[in-house]
Amino acid sequence: MKYISTRGQAPVLSFEEAMLTGLARDGGLYLPETVPTLTPDEIAGFAGQSYEQVAYRVMRPFIGPEFTDRELEACIRHAYAGFDHTARAPLAQLAPNHFLLELFHGPTLAFKDFAMQLIGHLFQTALEKRRQKITIVGATSGDTGSAAIEAFRGLDNVDVFILFPHGRVSEVQRRQMTTPVEGNVHALALDGDFDDCQARLKDMFNHFEFRDAVGLAGVNSINWARVLAQVVYYFTAAVSLGAPHRPVRFTVPTGNFGDVFAGYIAREMGLPIDRLVIATNQNDILHRTLETGAYTKAGVTPTISPSMDIQVSSNFERVLFDAYGREGAVVAKQMEDLAAGGFTISQGAIEFLRGVFASGRASEDETRATIKAVWDTTGEVICPHTAVGVKVAQDHLGTVPMITLATAHPAKFPTAVHDACGEDAALPGRMSDLFDREERVTRVPNDLVALETLIHNRTGR
Ligand SMILES: *Cc1c(COP(=O)(O)O)cnc(C)c1O
Repeated sequence: MKYISTRGQAPVLSFEEAMLTGLARDGGLYLPETVPTLTPDEIAGFAGQSYEQVAYRVMRPFIGPEFTDRELEACIRHAYAGFDHTARAPLAQLAPNHFLLELFHGPTLAFKDFAMQLIGHLFQTALEKRRQKITIVGATSGDTGSAAIEAFRGLDNVDVFILFPHGRVSEVQRRQMTTPVEGNVHALALDGDFDDCQARLKDMFNHFEFRDAVGLAGVNSINWARVLAQVVYYFTAAVSLGAPHRPVRFTVPTGNFGDVFAGYIAREMGLPIDRLVIATNQNDILHRTLETGAYTKAGVTPTISPSMDIQVSSNFERVLFDAYGREGAVVAKQMEDLAAGGFTISQGAIEFLRGVFASGRASEDETRATIKAVWDTTGEVICPHTAVGVKVAQDHLGTVPMITLATAHPAKFPTAVHDACGEDAALPGRMSDLFDREERVTRVPNDLVALETLIHNRTGR
């Protein structure tokens, strides 16, 4: 399996190379040259299998010979062994025909663990064979950072630096990043918002001298291996509800478009998903784009669902690439226009997108009211991101079963949850001393040179 860049100018890579690289050298994102498909019989065969067995079947065709069958099987087994639920991604029911896919039973209580735990093991396997050291730098709106730190802490051949927007993550999220004691973990609080963190990260990738000197690797959702790991739970959930014989619909609380893009890949592979519903909070650029065809940046407003406070949704570039018939030059031009403020999607491309996706937005009041209503009607406490999804899903219910992705555990956002429904969501016992652990964090300016100097100094590379 070969991987190509959405901007058409970067070297073609293997799965392992694309995983270790992250962002392509032309600024684009890696995608498989072709998406392998599964037959209805193969999908039907997933019924009754474990999460790990389905994960192996779904991912194997994308991965190629750099990982042997045994290595891949072991990485998958270790990745999910630390989850608190044997089903890994269990389904709960909210209302007739409306289900919640609980993706928060991993070590850091958000869906990011599904991908990050797996790539932690894939990276380790690959780097040991190559006797190579790398520097991971990640930008986070809260959950990616803690998941990455949890996956890479203590590994010999990896230093991990996480940029998060100072003052804009929840206390639980911050403490998950600042309390690990391993020397290879570096939490950096940047003076700016998430888009600033993501922009500085992209600058580092585009500064080839720095990139090569420190062995820069990216684990943001631009990393194809992360998207691939997330494709799996679309299959397990859909098959639980009768796929491939019965179609399903998903609603995905969306920020950087990684999770919903994984759903798009599942659909491309042959899973009968009749609609993928993009749910945004009031930072609604994706919803507006789908409605109007114009992708125009506005400022980011902090909300009670901070992991979705994003205006530049990196992974949207991947679906644009398909919408434009895989013309890298067209995508490159649109991304240039975006840097200057925005772009307009062609008629053909917007029709392509509207054929797959629907969208909606939840205001802060609607998000709080949904947390309360779900508590009142089901006794389930849901997190604010999940509530955005549930609200938007309710506007898209029909005869096809709807599955809303529950992206984080409510205990990660205790204040917002308590304000909305008066309930306290408890952290799992293994994390009950989180507020007593010592924090270790470096405040950094929104400045590329300062960041690169810090990374050179800390790694000695
Ligand atoms: C990251 C995150 C999202 C958004 O996911 P994307 O892949 O960036 O679209 C939604 N909810 C939670 C809790 C998250 O951590």
